[in-house]
Amino acid sequence: MKHFSLSKAVFMAASLALLGLTAANAQEKFSPVIVIHGGTSGLDLTKEEFKIREEPMNRALLAGQAVLEKGGSAMDAVTAAIMVLEDDPNFNAGKGAVFTADGFNELDASIMDGSTKKAGAVAMARHIKNPILGARLVMDKTWHTLVAGEGADKLAKESGLEMVDQKYFFTQFRYDALQKAKEKQKLLLDSEKAKKTSLNLHERPYLGTVGAIALDKNGNLAAATSTGGMTNKMTGRIGDSPIIGSGTYADNDSVAVSCTGTGDIYMRVNAAHEVSALYKYKTSDVQKAAEEAVSQVKALGGSGGIISIDKHGHTGFAWTKDKLGMYHGEARLGAKPIVYWPLGEK
Ligand code: ASP
Repeated sequence: MKHFSLSKAVFMAASLALLGLTAANAQEKFSPVIVIHGGTSGLDLTKEEFKIREEPMNRALLAGQAVLEKGGSAMDAVTAAIMVLEDDPNFNAGKGAVFTADGFNELDASIMDGSTKKAGAVAMARHIKNPILGARLVMDKTWHTLVAGEGADKLAKESGLEMVDQKYFFTQFRYDALQKAKEKQKLLLDSEKAKKTSLNLHERPYLGTVGAIALDKNGNLAAATSTGGMTNKMTGRIGDSPIIGSGTYADNDSVAVSCTGTGDIYMRVNAAHEVSALYKYKTSDVQKAAEEAVSQVKALGGSGGIISIDKHGHTGFAWTKDKLGMYHGEARLGAKPIVYWPLGEK
């Protein structure tokens, strides 16, 4: 009996010590961070052009950081950051979305919770003011993962999200970009002129898709992406951004990822999940994993970038540097947010 009590006491003491250790580790281990991207830039980016996006990106980082500072979740932090950028006309998401070939704005967005691997996405939404809220709605209130077109708008409306008319998404510079893209396409149909031109939509790739990823104090990772897609895309075309595993991915066991670039190729690479798989099964280096996924996109003729955070809070930024830059920034708890120069090293 005495022996039993003693071993029980020893067992309890050991368990308590272990619990204490785990709690201490948990505190030590998870230093919350939020990382965002604001899409790609041209290689001829000027300081003035950079400034236009630096300010809203800073605000988006502050919004995400404020959530994390209050002990909020990574999911709430990425949602808050994305909403700031969706409301800013300079980004190709929400208000500043690009036009389809038929002159519509069709918005794609997705979000994923790394702790439950639950995810939600909307595609081809035409009336949801903040598509990222539509994506969360799909995740939280339905048993689906992706809802597209009229169904997405209907769900959002019925659930009380703020709805807008298509004209809310009108911006002159996106409209002009559509006219230019159409002109170029016409040129391509003329075989003589086609020799002198190319349909490279990334020549001045100020695309401005937005993404946010975060790690919270509980070690939970989350990822979100929102976009209007690509100028002059076919009406009905869906890119990588609302596809879980292509444009967005989060798994507490590995990384959180958001992508930007030629979505039709990111989908063929499953780029966001590829970063997770490379991290998990090949290298535990989140920077290397992001670089390798980008090189796979490049090998298929695509361009763009990837932001990622691993489960320890290390960050990775990679993009096709010979073709473009990537707007990106990060904010750690208690530190001033940093918006990096899109063409430089982090
Ligand atoms: N990936 C987006 C799409 O293809 C565009 C972008 O990131 O610029 O829809």
